[in-house]
Amino acid sequence: MSYNNIETALIHGGISIDERTGAVNVPIYQTSTFKQDGLGKMRGYEYSRTGNPTREALEALIAELEGGHAGFAFASGLAAETAVLSLLNTGDRVLISSNVYGGTFRLLSKIFNHFDINYTISDTEDPEAFEKDITPDVKAVLIESPANPLMTITDIRAISEIAHKHGLLVIVDNTFMTPYLQRPLELGADIVIHSATKYLGGHSDVVAGLAVVKTQELAEKLAFIQNSTGGVLPPFDSFLLIRGIKTLGVRLDRHVANAEAAAKYLTEHQAVKSVHYPGLPTDKGYEVNKRQAKNGGVMISFELKDNYDINTFFESLELITLAESLGGVESLVCHPSSMTHASIPEEIRKKVGITDGLIRLSIGIENIDDILNDLEHAIAKSEVK
Ligand code: PLP
Repeated sequence: MSYNNIETALIHGGISIDERTGAVNVPIYQTSTFKQDGLGKMRGYEYSRTGNPTREALEALIAELEGGHAGFAFASGLAAETAVLSLLNTGDRVLISSNVYGGTFRLLSKIFNHFDINYTISDTEDPEAFEKDITPDVKAVLIESPANPLMTITDIRAISEIAHKHGLLVIVDNTFMTPYLQRPLELGADIVIHSATKYLGGHSDVVAGLAVVKTQELAEKLAFIQNSTGGVLPPFDSFLLIRGIKTLGVRLDRHVANAEAAAKYLTEHQAVKSVHYPGLPTDKGYEVNKRQAKNGGVMISFELKDNYDINTFFESLELITLAESLGGVESLVCHPSSMTHASIPEEIRKKVGITDGLIRLSIGIENIDDILNDLEHAIAKSEVK
C-alpha cells in the first residue's frame, strides 16, 4: 500500500484487511489454539500465547508507526516493561530518568531487585551528569520524555549517543507522546515501550502495553521472553487498541490544541505558582522538545499558590474527573504524590521536585471553554480567605 504520512499509517498500517474474507477491520480471533494439519504442520499459528492474528495485526501496526523491526503487545504497560527489562541479566544496572512513572520505579525497586537487577536514578536532562552515572555494571537506560509528572525533557538523541558509546541499550517510554508526536527509534533509541492504556487506546476502556524493537536480534530475544513469560494482550483488547489507534491523529490534534490553551490559561492565572508544560516557550525543556517532538503534548502539571486548598480544588471540579490514568478523550486530573507516584519514597519525591501541591492534568477533547470554566470555578472555590 502506498502512503507517506503517519495519519494514513494509523488507519492502514500493519495488517488492516482480513485476507480470507476482505473484512475491512481485523477480526477478533477469539481462540486459544489452532488446528494442525499433521505433526509439525501449522498454518502459521499454534497457540495464542505464542501468536494470535488479531494481536499480530496490532504488533505489525505499532512496529510500522514507530519505525521499528517488530512490535509486541502485552497485557499492560508494566507487562511490556517487565518483558523488556527481562533482557537484562543478574548483576546488571539500569539508569532511569529522575521522574519516571511510579510503577516503573516500583517494578525495579521491589521486583527486579530480587534478581539483583539494579537501578540508579539519573538526571537524563543533563547528558554530562548522565554520563558520569555510567558504571561498568550499567547496561541500559530507561528514559521518559516528557517525564512524569514534571514533564521534564530528555534529549533522546544526545543520551542515545552517549549510551551507545558505552554499549548501553536505550529504552524510551513513549507513552506521553505516541509515535504521532515523537519517534524515539529515529532519535537513536533501541526499544520503545508504551502504556497503550493511554493515548493509543484513547478511550479509557482498555489496559495494554506495547514494545517496539529496532533490530532482528532484539526481536528474537523479546519474542522468546514474551512467549516464555506470557503477559500477552488478549484478542479483544488487541482489536480495541487497533480501533483506538485509527483516530489517534485527530484526537491528538484536538488534545494538544486544548492543552496549549489550558497551559496558557494557567500560566496567566494569578492563583497559579508554577506550570510544567514543554509546549510553553518559557519551559526549561521547550527547545530540546521542539527538536525531537511535533509539539509539547497533552500533559500539564501545575501548583496553586499557598493560599489555595488543594483538597477543595479537587472536590470542586465538576467536569474534570479525579482519577488515575491519562490519555482518554475525557479530561482527568490527579495528585501525583498520593496517586501515580505514591510508590516513590517521600525523600526521593521531594528531591526530584514532586511536591504535595503538584496537580497533574490530562486534558481531554471536550470543548476548551468548558474545561477552562471548570478549572476557573474550582480554583475560585479553593481560595482560603
Ligand atoms: N509508563 C507510563 C509513562 C505510565 O504513565 C504508565 C501508567 O500510568 C505506565 C508506564 C504503566 O502502564 P500500565 O498502567 O498500562 O501498566
